[in-house]
Amino acid sequence: MKTILTAKLKLHTTAESDQSLLNTVRAYQKALNYTSRVAFENGKMSNQLKLHGLVYPELRERFALPSQLACSVSRQVGATFKGLWTRVKHASHQQKGYTRKRYKGLDKAPVFTANTTTFTYQRDYRFKAGQQVSITTLEGPVVFSYEGYTKHLDLIQKGSSGGVTCGAAKLWRDPGSKKFYLLVSLEVETPDFTPETVKGIKGADLGERFLVVTTPRNKTQFFPGGAICHKGEAFQRVRSRLQTKGTRGSRRRWRQLTLRERRFKADVNHRIAKAIVEPGFLIGLEDLTRIRERTRMRGKQNRRRRAKWAFAELGAFLSYKAQLVGGLTMNVDADYTSKGCPNCGHVSDKNRSGKGLTFRCENCGFTLHADLGGTRNVTLRTLLTRQDWMGTGLLSAASDGSDSEAKAKRLERFLELRWSFRSKLRPLGRGR
Ligand SMILES: [Zn+2]
Repeated sequence: MKTILTAKLKLHTTAESDQSLLNTVRAYQKALNYTSRVAFENGKMSNQLKLHGLVYPELRERFALPSQLACSVSRQVGATFKGLWTRVKHASHQQKGYTRKRYKGLDKAPVFTANTTTFTYQRDYRFKAGQQVSITTLEGPVVFSYEGYTKHLDLIQKGSSGGVTCGAAKLWRDPGSKKFYLLVSLEVETPDFTPETVKGIKGADLGERFLVVTTPRNKTQFFPGGAICHKGEAFQRVRSRLQTKGTRGSRRRWRQLTLRERRFKADVNHRIAKAIVEPGFLIGLEDLTRIRERTRMRGKQNRRRRAKWAFAELGAFLSYKAQLVGGLTMNVDADYTSKGCPNCGHVSDKNRSGKGLTFRCENCGFTLHADLGGTRNVTLRTLLTRQDWMGTGLLSAASDGSDSEAKAKRLERFLELRWSFRSKLRPLGRGR
């Protein structure tokens, strides 16, 4: 099995080498925008080869780009146009309200504003001994030392003989700190995950207040959900204030804040994911694809939905981190997980009356921490899926939502699941 992740390397620059990177990034950006205009004028061309033929001499001469970078430019612009064409085709869906994404149209050439340049491995960037990397600039190759997460550095060190393949890298300049980073895509060979290698099961669910992870043996982890979403809302408030202000300074501040928020969220999610994954564990997550489609995020009542978004991000981190340690994540149907009773299977909105911290089944009277209830249901579904996997050799609970009949059958079986380890739930402090 293969897993792809991105290593973020901070480059150590001198005033001189910083300038050559800056020149390269700027030339690359200008070349992108030039190529974008050419593509637009030539029937909004998305064919990378044709585009390459049209712009290559100009990119080499006028923008002084090294040959490989010039190739990357037409590749990137071609891919962008291709993506836009796809969206043109989907625009009718947007009108009908199927998708929430704002569509900007293809009525003018797209403008590239990000300070990123794409480098090809072994052509315009290569790793050298002693934690150094050589990067092609307009003035030729320049060698930098770098720093990054120890785990990522280890993977780069291992290289192809250790089952690690380097892919394209993006040179990115943090607009706030003005520092250069090289974002290297790494493809890592990870151990195969089979029914026989499963050491345990976990289920994860984001409830009203907590992200809860539990095992069938009731080993439970609580993470404050507020850390993921509420602080994000504070960011959001300040940002919308800055947006209405609309001055130059406020726009800059808005951008800084957006980046900081992204870093903050990623940091929280990385730490949580790290605490959850275990070697050999199959981790069940609520399948959120359907929620994402029909979400319109306005007003207070959508707070939970917004929290679910944060959870989808976390899911992506969990997925690759699990694979790296020889585990696996899978999606299970999210239907009724929070209002179904893990004790008797009774499903009702009234089980969660008052939306309080307690789940109380109106049928059997079973009570427990509300956020734990949903997690137990997710865990049970994961467990059942694993058993099916043992029997059939197919891991099929990854609900793709396409086959509604199969899904109805699955849900029916899920409703028969019962939580049999009735261990006592310890009371929780608010701050945990
Ligand atoms: Zn019940």
